[in-house]
Amino acid sequence: MGAWAVTVVAGLVLWDVDHTLIENGGVSKEIYARAFELLTGRPAEHRAETGGRTDPQIMLNLLRRHGIEPSPDQLTRLNDALKSAMTLNRARLSERGYALPGALDAIVALAEVPGIVQSVLTGNIQPNAVVKVSVFGLHERLDFELGGYGSDGAVRAGLVAVAQQRASRKYGQSFGRSSTVLIGDTPRDVQAGVDGGAAVIGVATGSDSMAELSEAGADVVFSDLTDTPALVAAVMKLTGLSR
Ligand SMILES: [Mg+2]
Repeated sequence: MGAWAVTVVAGLVLWDVDHTLIENGGVSKEIYARAFELLTGRPAEHRAETGGRTDPQIMLNLLRRHGIEPSPDQLTRLNDALKSAMTLNRARLSERGYALPGALDAIVALAEVPGIVQSVLTGNIQPNAVVKVSVFGLHERLDFELGGYGSDGAVRAGLVAVAQQRASRKYGQSFGRSSTVLIGDTPRDVQAGVDGGAAVIGVATGSDSMAELSEAGADVVFSDLTDTPALVAAVMKLTGLSR
């Protein structure tokens, strides 16, 4: 060891945001409604469907439910509309939302494991993901230069490779299923890991049960994030840091 010591990353942990790290108190749906209004100039009559979908998917579905086939101009303005809608709803999010029990402890405990780096894998566009976790003080040990976001693509499974490439560029090593752990609350998160090349820990703090997450292919499932030692042990096992 010495001046030439290189950081060897054994595990890239990618957190889903909504219903995994935070509860948004319904504010996320209000953000989509506001973004819709900013894009179309009229109020949304239908509610957005979320459930592990990416921001581009959610907004396209919402537009189409209103009979709107988005114009090239609207597609170009999509991310800006979502970002503005987030800014307008930030105070409301901090009032009505909260960090889920155990989320901060889990992040802090994993940050203390040598060889683990943490970021997010979320359908939210990057700036909105940063706001959502920062509002509740969960941001400090997450590296937002890494990660995969709805602003990187509409297909969630594709975001795993985006996150792995970012980590590869930063740490000069490759990342695959034995060195990447995705933690999320929906079968869409699980599927993204299965298809995209990550081990998956399911957490049943959203609307899907432990059985549903397990059935979708999660390697390990928890009811919530409150058992910090068990969560850390699961991450270490899935990344080969322990047997
Ligand atoms: Mg989620």
